[in-house]
Amino acid sequence: MMKAYTADSIRNIALIGHGGSGKTTIASCLLFDTNMVNRLGSVDSGTTITDFNEDEIERKISINAATCYVEYKKLKINILDTPGYGNFISEAKLALAAVDMAYIIINAAAGVEVQTDKVWKFCQEFQLPRIFIINKMDRDNADFDKSLQSLQKSYGRSVVPIHLPIGKETDFKGIIDTINMKAYLYKDDQSGNFSTVDIPAELKEHTIKMRKSLIEAVAEMDEELMEAYLETEDLPQDKFLQGLKKAIHSLNIYPVLVSSALKNMGMQLILDSIAQFAPSPTELKPKKGINPDTNKEEERQPLDSDPFSAFVFKTISDPYMGKITFFRIYSGSLSPDKQIFNATRNTPEKIGAIYVMQGKNSTTIPEAHSGDIVADVKLKDTRTNDTLCATDAKILYPQVQLQKPIVSFAIEPKSRADEEKITTALQKISEEDPVLHFERDPQTKELLISGAGQLHIEVVIGRLKNRFGVDVILHPPKIPYKETIKGTSEVQGKYKKQSGGRGQYGDCWIKFEPLPRGSDFQFEDKIFGGAIPKNYIPSVEKGIQEARQKGVLAGYPTVDFKATLFDGSYHTVDSSDLAFKIAASMAFKKGIQQAKPILLEPIMNVEIYAPDECTGDVLGDLNSRRGRVLGMNSSAGTTIINAQVPLAELINYAPALTSITGGRGYYEMAFSHYDEVPTHISQKIIQEAQARLKEEEEQE
Ligand code: GDP
Repeated sequence: MMKAYTADSIRNIALIGHGGSGKTTIASCLLFDTNMVNRLGSVDSGTTITDFNEDEIERKISINAATCYVEYKKLKINILDTPGYGNFISEAKLALAAVDMAYIIINAAAGVEVQTDKVWKFCQEFQLPRIFIINKMDRDNADFDKSLQSLQKSYGRSVVPIHLPIGKETDFKGIIDTINMKAYLYKDDQSGNFSTVDIPAELKEHTIKMRKSLIEAVAEMDEELMEAYLETEDLPQDKFLQGLKKAIHSLNIYPVLVSSALKNMGMQLILDSIAQFAPSPTELKPKKGINPDTNKEEERQPLDSDPFSAFVFKTISDPYMGKITFFRIYSGSLSPDKQIFNATRNTPEKIGAIYVMQGKNSTTIPEAHSGDIVADVKLKDTRTNDTLCATDAKILYPQVQLQKPIVSFAIEPKSRADEEKITTALQKISEEDPVLHFERDPQTKELLISGAGQLHIEVVIGRLKNRFGVDVILHPPKIPYKETIKGTSEVQGKYKKQSGGRGQYGDCWIKFEPLPRGSDFQFEDKIFGGAIPKNYIPSVEKGIQEARQKGVLAGYPTVDFKATLFDGSYHTVDSSDLAFKIAASMAFKKGIQQAKPILLEPIMNVEIYAPDECTGDVLGDLNSRRGRVLGMNSSAGTTIINAQVPLAELINYAPALTSITGGRGYYEMAFSHYDEVPTHISQKIIQEAQARLKEEEEQE
């Protein structure tokens, strides 16, 4: 059992940034350098602590956020290693909701990349203090100055280096710390060992200049400091450090560090920066939520003395431990086997043993304190993004807004026997993965899975296979077209069979007219004088309801029209519910055909993010997809295009945008409305649908 730390000695940070920038490797080094593990894990050989799922090892990328911790200078530092690929970026956002400071990792050979921008925006949303690490300084084309410039261009003058590299590419060998005016040279053997040396003479002048601009930036934050600075052009070291910490917490300074994680260089400086600058949970503002019973706002102090409250940022299903729920305690303490409450699902829960997780390895702790990040395996109904709280002091924290799915596929099990297993399996996977959606399309009857991109869907398919033994085939989903009318008609539907035995007689006159988009269907009864007895009228409506499920053009549901029953006749003996239903469906077919039927297709709202220089190509491509651009604006080198595009034209949009933008573009989409399909396209759809319907009939 491990010691339980209290809030003043806990720090919570996340490693975030573009995929491949080195987050997992940095986490590995931090664990190794603090003796938490005795072997330096490597991404390339699949031995890191934080990428432990088989799909992560196979693809060599982080798909899930993982938690680990190090003990350093009497602190317990909880570290969340997060995925940086667009498809899994929601995992990073949830992790950010559970920590108090973010380290944004930058590839020194690339500078700011697409996902750097995304995670920066998440940090803005949560108002999180941030520190940049320019990593991979040992790589070919590593360029500290260029990377720094790209950071300052995107995020402004508040981005200030506190460390400077000594050498670059294969000559990268050390780091200057401008705060303490010291330099460190590292052993080139991945041991993390270093010697403290004087600042190299040729870098001295530059270092002094950098330190001065840092001190100036700190002094600008505070009148008292500014006065002291103006007098001496310097600040006493303790005032400087206090000021810097304050400026980081108030989002006025974003310091920049350097490292080579591959060579295990610069790690002790990262640890020191956490110890020095990351807020202790006790320094945080009280957390605001609402009381679910009274709907009034309440808040919790980050103290053990306040009632227990926590936020669930992650759920995984482990083959040995079962469902593991990870949460950040915002207030109060927690002991094992305690009764608590899930305010999001409005249900009691019971805690089992309390764990701290080192990747997939667990250790129990006797109790957990405010500010800590812990895990439990006994929570039955709790899911990611939920709030847990004390039963007698309920509070609900705001949920993290996650990205909407943008690609959908229809899936079908290879073996019929897996039909049932597949939904249970998807249910389990979606408990871990809040971005995954699945449903059976009521219209096309296909089982659709939707996610953040092609890669996301592939990972889900891999999990279906590896964990649940279900092999599936992927298809592009069918487009849920609909049909409607543009004109009006008045027709008679008459069903009469009066030869031998009991006869059938139903006769109705119905008017069909269009309704505005989105109104679906209305039925009106305008029979006067008993031309059709009241008891048969529901059958007329039912007849149309059933018939409209398969439209007259291509078999798609018919919507946005009104049917008015205004006349008819009956037979005292031969009329029946069935006869009137059939008569109404005959009227529907005839009436719709005479009222200028057309096809409708789903139109999506699409928001596209692309580098400015690709805008022309993106627009040209949108044009060829029948897209209608609604607006554009550009900031920090990225153009955001808002457009409406038919769903049918977006089936292969994800790979197309990737190739147009060289992997730097991404998009989000959501359903907007149904609109008329242009004639030349609808003819083709109708022909294909009719051929398919004929084939189906022949098979039956
Ligand atoms: P993440 O996706 O941000 O977690 O990045 P990883 O830690 O998985 O690293 C991606 C790749 O970059 C792996 O092949 C690492 O070995 C490599 N890598 C990580 N840090 C460095 C570094 O400092 N220098 C070099 N040359 N390669 C690195």
